Amino acid sequence: MKTKILTFTLLFVALFAAAQEEEESMKMKPQMTEIWDPEVSKITPGETPMDAPSDAIVLFNGTDLGREWTNGDGSESGWLVEDGCATVVKGQGIIKTKRVFEDFQLHIEWRSPAEVKGKSQGRGNSGVFLQARYEVQILDNFDNRTYRNGQAGSLYKQYPPLVNACKGPGEWQVYDIIYTAPRFNDDGTFFTPPTVTVLHNGVLVQNNSKLRGPTEYVGIPEYAVKKHGADVIQLQDHGNPVSYRNIWIREL
Ligand code: MG
Repeated sequence: MKTKILTFTLLFVALFAAAQEEEESMKMKPQMTEIWDPEVSKITPGETPMDAPSDAIVLFNGTDLGREWTNGDGSESGWLVEDGCATVVKGQGIIKTKRVFEDFQLHIEWRSPAEVKGKSQGRGNSGVFLQARYEVQILDNFDNRTYRNGQAGSLYKQYPPLVNACKGPGEWQVYDIIYTAPRFNDDGTFFTPPTVTVLHNGVLVQNNSKLRGPTEYVGIPEYAVKKHGADVIQLQDHGNPVSYRNIWIREL
């Protein structure tokens, strides 16, 4: 009888220990949620956040505009290139990149004229058109009122900037734009709309804003748009001599 009790006791202890061990092995450990491979690819950042990192495409370095840009019709750009920047020449029309892009991070520096002329939308107006359709407005809004969804840092006629972070006329300003291209349903409606984040002079002015459709000057942006794929970046000729320098892009 004693032997039987002893055997049962030992068996119970063994089973209990095994159960304990199993429970222990089922517990989450820190290592179980660590992902090691593939290793995150290394790049070399620029000396300052203004400088192109090693994986960026430099779209304009201040001298050779024709390397990456053309006029709207594909001919040579008529914009003025001097003093390390490219300046809109009224009537020459937009310029566009030779390359096309999907999702990207774009760094672009711009300057409205030091000599103040005009008011509201007529003062230092240009714009960055993402995939040739969606405008991030460029405007001299330093002491210059205009409609809030049309001022600098707005997604034109759709989203006003969160704040007015404009520097004065003639000062260089920076946009850092993070863009996710739309994905489409078969009928041309957005499956996911394009989203845009913009930092203006380092200040967040668009926080993952979801566009409703291509930029419209007149009328309501349409939800049902023509499907499109990768496309160019355009800079607008709005008749004002706005300048650009140090433009680089990282494809995401
Ligand atoms: Mg504009």
